[in-house]
Amino acid sequence: MEKLLNEFVDVFGKDIAGTPEPSYLQEPRDRFFASAMPLLRPRSTRQVSEIVKLCSERDIAIIPYGGGTGLVGGQVSDAKKNTIILSLERMNQVRDVRPLENAIVVEAGIILTNVQAAACDVDRLFPLSLASEGSCQIGGNLATNAGGVQVLHYGNTRDLCLGIEAVLPDGTIFNGLKTLRKDNTGYDLRHLLIGSEGSLGIITAACLKLFPKPKNTTTAMVVVPNPVAAIKLLADLRAVLAGNVIAFELIHRQGCDFLVETMPQVRQPFQKIPEWSILVEVSGGVSVDLDMALEDALSEAISQELVLDALIAQSQAQADAFWNVRETIPEANRLIGSIASHDISIPISRIPAFISETPVLLERFGDIRINCFGHLGDGNLHYNVFPPKGKDRNDYKHISGEVQKVIHDQTHEFGGSVSAEHGIGRLKRHDLEAYGDPGKLSAMRAIKTALDPKGIMNPGAVLAQN
Ligand SMILES: Cc1cc2nc3c(=O)[nH]c(=O)nc-3n(C[C@H](O)[C@H](O)[C@H](O)COP(=O)(O)OP(=O)(O)OC[C@H]3O[C@@H](n4cnc5c(N)ncnc54)[C@H](O)[C@@H]3O)c2cc1C
Repeated sequence: MEKLLNEFVDVFGKDIAGTPEPSYLQEPRDRFFASAMPLLRPRSTRQVSEIVKLCSERDIAIIPYGGGTGLVGGQVSDAKKNTIILSLERMNQVRDVRPLENAIVVEAGIILTNVQAAACDVDRLFPLSLASEGSCQIGGNLATNAGGVQVLHYGNTRDLCLGIEAVLPDGTIFNGLKTLRKDNTGYDLRHLLIGSEGSLGIITAACLKLFPKPKNTTTAMVVVPNPVAAIKLLADLRAVLAGNVIAFELIHRQGCDFLVETMPQVRQPFQKIPEWSILVEVSGGVSVDLDMALEDALSEAISQELVLDALIAQSQAQADAFWNVRETIPEANRLIGSIASHDISIPISRIPAFISETPVLLERFGDIRINCFGHLGDGNLHYNVFPPKGKDRNDYKHISGEVQKVIHDQTHEFGGSVSAEHGIGRLKRHDLEAYGDPGKLSAMRAIKTALDPKGIMNPGAVLAQN
């Protein structure tokens, strides 16, 4: 480590090359820990290119690092030698805002909330929104093709990106920073780099789509009798409210119970915690009275017994309180400590069957608790399994892999995906091998070899090393 660091200090100086704080060496769920290695913090794309060129010449591996909020261990490597962390944190500027084109050009290290704020400053919306938005960076969001709570309407990060600037594994700068909506000129490197989790290059800047700011937003918390009703409600609301349904989040009683157990200060919307509830958000332009439209749609749903109870937020504070319940459930999960957690997607129409059949398969593991929640509107469930109350997850380590296999096998059986929005990283590379399409896998390996023949870009992430 010392010798490698000194080599980088000699070339780039102490301002750029240094030793990482411990926070760079672990990830949010403490599942992966990185070895101590030099930390490079370049200030420009040119510097990123020079660092990568040096690494390529010297066969030094690079772990690209954004906000460090990734949940699959892509940003932490336990390689013992010849590896550096390359953090984009100093490349955090807005380069250009073009409200007339509904586009913004930002550097990769900008924190997501700062992109949202820059859009807001010109009366536009950048809709990517996730609970980690105060720490994650747009480069990390692109590299993981992050999802979040508004995918239902705006798509995931891939759908929000018009162009990319990146440094390829030999140090070449790829300048694809176009604001064009139409550019049909051969292979789209942008889409190859998005979701590649730092394994094909380093994203240094991006041109992102902006949208008109909704003038009108209504948020409701709705009790549904079961997931079948929830799916029907989603279809009905989308039909009646056209493109105005922005978020449709499933919450299970278990998640609220965890909040009561770990964060009792979080206000529960309903006096008696319901078995299943939905947080629904609709938004649109000035001419639509969304409060009324949503109220009418929910009244109709109540008459059809799709909805048992509903609260429409009467103020922004109440809407925030509803969101707070949804957004703090992952932290409550973390405090309880899961045996195994899963970020899966299932074809929406098959979700009720998945939810009713999977616990039966898990019965053999005895007294466990399941918290199944997530972005139901996108078919994305976070299906997490916990020990019984009062028991420690560490006592269940021996069954963790088996539990995960049952759930991933079942997901595969249902035509789903074992990684809906978090990516593959180091956590799921064997799942990719097990469940991935063989044709896709061999094409992925060929692409990796072609672009990164020396294998220096985030080795061991996404594709297992041979
Ligand atoms: C509380 C919490 C809530 C979350 N909610 C969601 C959610 O709703 N939806 C969702 O999708 N994710 C969610 N996540 C996961 C995480 O926030 C996202 O994956 C995010 O996009 C990661 O961004 P980051 O900047 O932190 O990247 P990092 O964690 O630093 O890196 C993630 C991966 O991207 C690579 N990378 C980072 N920057 C670059 C770059 N500039 N160029 C190339 N590769 C790069 C890294 O090598 C690594 O493989 C959540 C995480 C937390 C902690």
